[in-house]
Amino acid sequence: MTGMEQHVLVRFYHEIALKGGNRPWFLKHMGANLRRALAGTGVGRIRWNAMMASFPLRDEEQWELVRERLEELIGVERFSRAVSVKPTMEAMKEAMPGLLEGKSAASFRIAARRADKRFPMTSPEINHALGRHVQELTGWPVDLKQAELTLYVQTTEREALLSAESLPGPGGMPVGVGGHVAALLSGGIDSPVAAYQMMRRGCKVTFVHFHSFPLVEGTSREKAEELVELLTHYQQSSRLLLVPFAAAQQRIIVTVPPAYRVAVYRRFMVRIAEALAVKHGAAALVTGDSLGQVSSQTLENLTTIGAAAERLPLFRPLLTMDKGEIVDIARPLGTFPISIIPDQDCCSLFVPKHPVIKSRIQDVERMEAELPVQELVEQALEAVEERVYHWPPAPANREAGEAATAG
Ligand code: ATP
Ligand code: MG
Repeated sequence: MTGMEQHVLVRFYHEIALKGGNRPWFLKHMGANLRRALAGTGVGRIRWNAMMASFPLRDEEQWELVRERLEELIGVERFSRAVSVKPTMEAMKEAMPGLLEGKSAASFRIAARRADKRFPMTSPEINHALGRHVQELTGWPVDLKQAELTLYVQTTEREALLSAESLPGPGGMPVGVGGHVAALLSGGIDSPVAAYQMMRRGCKVTFVHFHSFPLVEGTSREKAEELVELLTHYQQSSRLLLVPFAAAQQRIIVTVPPAYRVAVYRRFMVRIAEALAVKHGAAALVTGDSLGQVSSQTLENLTTIGAAAERLPLFRPLLTMDKGEIVDIARPLGTFPISIIPDQDCCSLFVPKHPVIKSRIQDVERMEAELPVQELVEQALEAVEERVYHWPPAPANREAGEAATAG
């Protein structure tokens, strides 16, 4: 593509566009997230056009950086490198040899879209005219259904962007538009996926991890830190709250029978997480529970555990998914290899092989009546450690901040 100005074209999730009157609000978040995500890449001015953004690209090195960031930016549906020409058929035709340089294909098609409906031709007319031109240039046959190569054309009021690629972003709604939630993050496979699902619905996620260090080694805590560091790529900044849970557990086992300990531990986690959520301004709790996956996740046990939340709703985005479906999300997300590192979960401490399968709230409440519930919650809250993460890392963020104040 020698001699032609290269751009990056970013297309945002279509659901954003469906939000009618909310569109400016959505775009405000998307714009701020995009600028933050591109911090440190040296990208200059970003042009917006409806549900798209584009900006000039300097070179291959910059593309590598930009590409990595856009692949992880929630709200990005697809993106591509494109050449920008005048929005006329003449200019598009002239750009084709450059766009096709070094390419060969068994078949091709043109996929045109118009952002500016004043362009004198309809999309099918553009497809047809440009298709014929490319055919004359190359001799390749057109295949509308299974083309090996698709050439994308996007016209706007001021330019036509032509590209020979279309890369997927994570999709979803820009983080921030969905509010703020607190996710209970274990070191396992499910809870990081649950948190990510909430991010893709536009939620900012604060993470809460319970650990029994020093009763067990600190692996689960380290895994939680690694998971949050990774998940921060998708929401740009995160807070992780590490809650020492051993003291509460040591008190719980004194009077609660073994079969009920997991349920009671979980109810304490919910209470403590709820207090932390309220303190940090989160409006809901999120867990990675999936119905029936393990004995603590029967309908009865989920009900008993969920009932401990008094002020906030508790959401379970993975409720109906099976393990295979969850793993299929965890792998491309990158959390899977961290999640499968062996550790000792705090809920496996002092519990029998066969915990109660159908717990009843009345029974659990009777057991908790013998516990200093409030005191145990407060003790845990006092010992919380906090970690904050940024992506891109801080120096790039500062640069973006300066650019924002300067311009
Ligand atoms: P995961 O893979 O997320 O650990 P799981 O299938 O192993 O889930 P459980 O261990 O029963 O299921 O945990 C259910 C949910 O409870 C988790 O998804 C998580 O939201 C929460 N949870 C469990 N242990 C912890 C912990 N140590 N800290 C924070 N949250 C936890
Ligand atoms: Mg687990």
